[in-house]
Amino acid sequence: MTEAATTSNGSNGAHPTEKRDAVVIGAGVAGLYQLYRLREQGLNVTAIDAASGVGGTWYWNRYPGARFDSESYIYQYLFSEELYTGWSWSEKFPGQPEIERWLNYVADRLDLRRDIQFGTTVKSAHFNEATQRWLVTTDKGRGIDTQFLVACCGMLSAPYVSFPGQEAFKGQLFHTARWPEQPIDFAGKRVAVIGNGATGIQVVQSIAGEVGHLKVFVRTPQYVIPMKNPKYGAAEAAAYKAKFAHLTARLPHTFTGFEYDFEQAWADLTPPQRRAVLEDCWNDGSLKLWLSSFAEMFFDEEVNAEISEFVRQKMRERLKDPKLCDLLIPSDYGFGTHRVPLEQNYLEAFHRSNVEIVSVKGNPIDCVTETGIRTADGTVHDVDIIVLATGFDAGTGALTRIDIRGRGGRSLKDDWSRDIRTTMGLQIHGYPNLFTTAVPLAPSAALCNMTTCLQQQVEWIDACIAYMRRKSLNVVEPTKETEDGWVAHHDETANATLIAKTSSWYLGSNIPGKPRRLLSYCGGVGVYREKCDEVAANDYRGFAMQ
Ligand code: NAP
Repeated sequence: MTEAATTSNGSNGAHPTEKRDAVVIGAGVAGLYQLYRLREQGLNVTAIDAASGVGGTWYWNRYPGARFDSESYIYQYLFSEELYTGWSWSEKFPGQPEIERWLNYVADRLDLRRDIQFGTTVKSAHFNEATQRWLVTTDKGRGIDTQFLVACCGMLSAPYVSFPGQEAFKGQLFHTARWPEQPIDFAGKRVAVIGNGATGIQVVQSIAGEVGHLKVFVRTPQYVIPMKNPKYGAAEAAAYKAKFAHLTARLPHTFTGFEYDFEQAWADLTPPQRRAVLEDCWNDGSLKLWLSSFAEMFFDEEVNAEISEFVRQKMRERLKDPKLCDLLIPSDYGFGTHRVPLEQNYLEAFHRSNVEIVSVKGNPIDCVTETGIRTADGTVHDVDIIVLATGFDAGTGALTRIDIRGRGGRSLKDDWSRDIRTTMGLQIHGYPNLFTTAVPLAPSAALCNMTTCLQQQVEWIDACIAYMRRKSLNVVEPTKETEDGWVAHHDETANATLIAKTSSWYLGSNIPGKPRRLLSYCGGVGVYREKCDEVAANDYRGFAMQ
């Protein structure tokens, strides 16, 4: 099966074609591990990444203040204790430079770089029904003929940039996910930040003290939780490393792949006991309030209303000024029904005299002009730097930006423009031998500790390919019935939650025209894993192989 040769011509005649057993798109958390696993089982694999280095999300998102809000010691890979314990974090929620260094450490320890083509963008991938192989073409004019194609493109890697007139702006304009490697000099500058999701919040709190004047364009306020970020020295590192076996046993089975989980039922506790749980979670300074207080917050409007009011009160205590409270505290959706950001003095940034909120809820941004940002009321906000913290075409955008053609020439972009469907987020009917990670209809599309979920998907894909090789099978594709069944189960699970009622990137509602479907599977990381394992244990039931 292993073929290293370069053939003389590509199937479209335009590209010299190399031959591989597998091509992995992406060299981030999933791509690095997928490359490693497939190479370990003897496949001839190439990974391709547009970046000049490894890291994926943690390569591109080098904006000021970018940092984890999963605990560092649970964001690591758990397949090798040696790899795990060979790295020590400096704090609980480290920043992007340290995270990028960690992924470089992983690439070096596993000797991955020799099989990664950096600075290369995959332009198309077409399935050839005669050969039952994929032809992958890149912007370097290369073609790769491969049996398996594994998309490890990340769920938040296609930046969403939407304002007319951006090209005319005479100052500097950056999307946070395409941040330059050289530091930006904010000193004394008039800066606009558009967006106050997890990214915008990190930017605002980081640059508020540096800029001359900051205008934060806020459309939808966020519930926020103050982060506590203790430093880790040798003792703390030793303590968490000693938990390796516990973490390995626990993380894959919790609801979101974090160390903590939902342990108590709202109905079983008295009001003071509930309050104590909420305070305890709050004081952890992590996502615990969201991911381990009461699961009922996702299903029960009354429970959600009480927890939302608990958070609002905490925010009011810090903001004090009623006008700021009106602009920065959510009132029309419930806590936890979209991504909850952690923050560090974000709310206090608005007490500074050089920081101003521009509410664009009823007065939307019209366009970018040569000098700044114009809102619908005709006001032009003149600035020197515009930071677009406007998010992503999540889950689907990374793949629809590639011309992917499956059986009968069907286009994934067209298919997903009508209806976003996958089979367990692992494969798509009509696209044989294409495997996916971090795409819709799996927890890895949003609602999980990413490394927990991505490891599981990578391992499932690896095992599936190993199974096929053992049985001398060449092609795998989920049946339409299997996919229909998964989509129905996904929708039923999703529609029982309040998450499906709140507009956000979780539903694709941030992208005009995107079909509305909850991207993440909401049945829980542990349950999802069991379902995937069950498929594998039953000879990949529902996945047709030949
Ligand atoms: P996001 O959550 O989608 O937020 C985008 C922001 O831009 C929202 O405030 C949105 O307002 C605003 N926006 C978009 N278009 C706009 C327009 N035309 N006018 C005004 N405002 C506009 O994106 P993100 O903050 O980049 O975060 C995406 C995800 O990345 C997060 O949810 C999280 O999962 C991940 N992330 C993780 C970390 C971490 O782990 N530490 C850090 C950053 C990001 P609306 O809400 O009104 O649409």
